[in-house]
Amino acid sequence: MKKIALLVAFLLSAMAVSGQQYLALSFDDGPNTTTTMQALDVMEKYGVPGSFFVNGCNIDGETIPVMLRAKSLGCDIENHSQNHKHMLDLTSAEIREEIEQTSKLIEDAVGVAPRFFRPPYLEHDSRMHNITDLCFIYGFDLSDWNKEVTTEQRISAILSGVCDGDIILLHDFKDNDQTIETLKVIIPELQRRGFTFVTVAELFAVHGGMPEPHNGQIYSNAY
Ligand SMILES: [Zn+2]
Repeated sequence: MKKIALLVAFLLSAMAVSGQQYLALSFDDGPNTTTTMQALDVMEKYGVPGSFFVNGCNIDGETIPVMLRAKSLGCDIENHSQNHKHMLDLTSAEIREEIEQTSKLIEDAVGVAPRFFRPPYLEHDSRMHNITDLCFIYGFDLSDWNKEVTTEQRISAILSGVCDGDIILLHDFKDNDQTIETLKVIIPELQRRGFTFVTVAELFAVHGGMPEPHNGQIYSNAY
């Protein structure tokens, strides 16, 4: 009986080791030459990629090299609109312009067009879904845009809440230092727990592929 119990324990641990678990880090409101670079420093140290949802208005001669550095580290650059407006207040033509202008700036900068869109303030409706082929992304949200959410609270929200297939929603706007400190803790700890970090596109690839466009859905995870 003891032998059987030992065999079962061995098989379960072998399954846990071979059962890959994946997470995607995602960042909104960049790029910039300070906080985005600090995020990339931490990600490079641990060899993990992520997906940067950028605002077109932040793309210029100084930040294009930051985006190229991200790409060289295996990161994807995705779309967070041109000017971070409340898009439900815009006309259809204005919404299209907000999304397409940013996609073009991204493709011109890094040579790859985005596949995902995170609507500013996470406000979206069927009209927006019908305007673009991009897949809408929300994420595991720890309100790290709010300065009152401490580093400890950010760390604990992630470490106690994420599971296989989650997209972690973070912000790399200037001076969001608490999120940089959060990254320094959560990346090595989640790696120690057996998670592999991938981009949002890779996360969907390992969980069965890209969703169909215009489906009206916004995704926080890929499972
Ligand atoms: Zn934003």
